[in-house]
Amino acid sequence: MFFRKGLAVRLLMALVACWAAAGAFAQPAAVPVTARQVSPSAWYVQGVSALGSPGNRNFVSNAGFVVTPAGVVVIDALGSPVLARELIAEIKRVSGKPVTHVIVTHYHADHIYGLQEFKRAGARIIAQKDGRDYLNSDTAQSRLAASRKDLAPWIDDDTRLVPADEWIEGPRELVVGGVRFLLQPVGPAHTPEDLVVFLPSEKVLFAGDVVFRGRVPYVGQADSRHWIDALNTLLTFNAAVVVPGHGPTSTAAREDMELTRDYLTYLRETMRRAAQNLDPWEEAYQRADWSRFEHLPLFKAANRMNAYNTYLLMEREAK
Ligand SMILES: [Zn+2]
Repeated sequence: MFFRKGLAVRLLMALVACWAAAGAFAQPAAVPVTARQVSPSAWYVQGVSALGSPGNRNFVSNAGFVVTPAGVVVIDALGSPVLARELIAEIKRVSGKPVTHVIVTHYHADHIYGLQEFKRAGARIIAQKDGRDYLNSDTAQSRLAASRKDLAPWIDDDTRLVPADEWIEGPRELVVGGVRFLLQPVGPAHTPEDLVVFLPSEKVLFAGDVVFRGRVPYVGQADSRHWIDALNTLLTFNAAVVVPGHGPTSTAAREDMELTRDYLTYLRETMRRAAQNLDPWEEAYQRADWSRFEHLPLFKAANRMNAYNTYLLMEREAK
């Protein structure tokens, strides 16, 4: 009887293991929010290189954090509240300290849907003032409504857009626990409100989506001329490490910034020529030589739209 009971338990456990395995197969295990150290006091977590989806919980962007004696300064809030909660737990595990500030590099969904959790934890949110226009726009509202459908259950009716506690206009020096942070607005580039954060003592640059590492950026409605200017400004920081908004960190900061800059420059050159000659866009697109960039991640997902948006921008600039 005892033996049979043991067998029954083992059978039951095997069955549970099968269910678990089948479940794991149907829904791939979520990528955990894991802190990686980039300098003595700076860390980051890295989202996956993909579009946001229920499978990845919208963990498609990075967040950084810097540990100071007085608390932790976070850069960007990740793409869903659940991710933000995991980040807060990870920060606690690594540093044992609370988050005092969150600096928002720009108000795109994948960087801000976690803000409410930091707000709840008592952190002060700082962003560049043009983020307000986006927050108050129909675009932000309709994007959130779409995300509640597309990213359910991670984005739901409780997910809300959170404004900054402090909107800055020009450069701002923030000192927390004796550690200096330089907050440098660089928009309009990827967005009007682009803000980068530099930690001079360790030469770490948190660059948001102004710098993409080893992948094609989403140009969207960005003003690529200003974006190129912004990259040139960032190059003057002479950072040793760049934590981008997406993808791995880089100690080849210069090369990364140059790659993004050269990609934008190439888009502008090819599309400007096409727009000036009144060449149909599709024809110009097919004719362009993309060989320098087509091996990069997200080229297929982003390049056509980037080229099209740049074509329209070049038409507008020509007027
Ligand atoms: Zn982004």
